[in-house]
Amino acid sequence: MTRHYDLHSHSLASDGTLSPTELVKWAANAGVDVLALTDHDETGGIVEASAAARAEGIVLVPGVEISVTWQKQTVHIVGLHINIESSPLQQGLARLREFRCWRAEEMGHRLAKHGIHGAWEAAQRLAHGRIISRTHFAHFLVEQGRARTVRDVFKTYLKPNKPGYVPGEWASLEEVVGWIRDAGGQAVLAHPARYAMTATRRRKLIAEFVELGGEGLEVVSGSHSRGDNFSMAQLARYFGLKASAGSDFHGPENPWVMLGRLEPLPDGCVPIWADWSI
Ligand code: AMP
Ligand code: MN
Ligand code: MN
Ligand code: MN
Repeated sequence: MTRHYDLHSHSLASDGTLSPTELVKWAANAGVDVLALTDHDETGGIVEASAAARAEGIVLVPGVEISVTWQKQTVHIVGLHINIESSPLQQGLARLREFRCWRAEEMGHRLAKHGIHGAWEAAQRLAHGRIISRTHFAHFLVEQGRARTVRDVFKTYLKPNKPGYVPGEWASLEEVVGWIRDAGGQAVLAHPARYAMTATRRRKLIAEFVELGGEGLEVVSGSHSRGDNFSMAQLARYFGLKASAGSDFHGPENPWVMLGRLEPLPDGCVPIWADWSI
């Protein structure tokens, strides 16, 4: 039997819109056999998702998507099959969440200077006491009619050099690969084609990631084009990295990214799940 894998998804524990249980039900209905829950800098949804997966008869891979600052640019590293009780991992994630809280307040100040008041309070409400992300601010700004879509809000207000953007340092690549490995997991560079960087710089990032013990490249991603999938497959082969596949699903209101709706891995890729015993 061919199993269907979706190894990148979000729940209400970060900036997704479904509870872990609802997410697992969506995945099961979409024909996913193996789902990784990979909330941003947070593993608080894993226990609930695992119970839901048992009830639905699918496999839940405990995961996380960690924010990294690499040479002044933000990149994301997915950790798969992590032990969520690992203390170095949890201490690291707690530090990143503290930065998120500080950043959110600062975003509120900057938006207020720009004539947009109450954004921090609104984003906090939307985050329901869980991690606070730029996505929560984006939803508020759309509600306020500042832009038509979340994507437009990012472009006008929330990207680097825009009025609501607060620069800062996430964790280093070395720390994050270390936390994931300490927790017994596999580190995967998320949506590698999405970063605004030259091909040369991308190769430098991947080379460093491999040097530090990174194992996988997210070759197939909901945020890649088909062409991206093929060029990332070539990079994975060149660097001897295993290939992962994930939709980066955040909720059903983003109809262009659906759970489990993934292209197959291009020929010649070694799947990250090749030696999983599940
Ligand atoms: P944060 O980690 O709080 O800085 O927020 C990053 C999140 O914002 C990503 O995980 C995406 O879910 C979302 N995001 C980033 N860029 C965009 C964009 N251009 N359009 C829509 N969502 C975006
Ligand atoms: Mn997100
Ligand atoms: Mn990401
Ligand atoms: Mn993601």
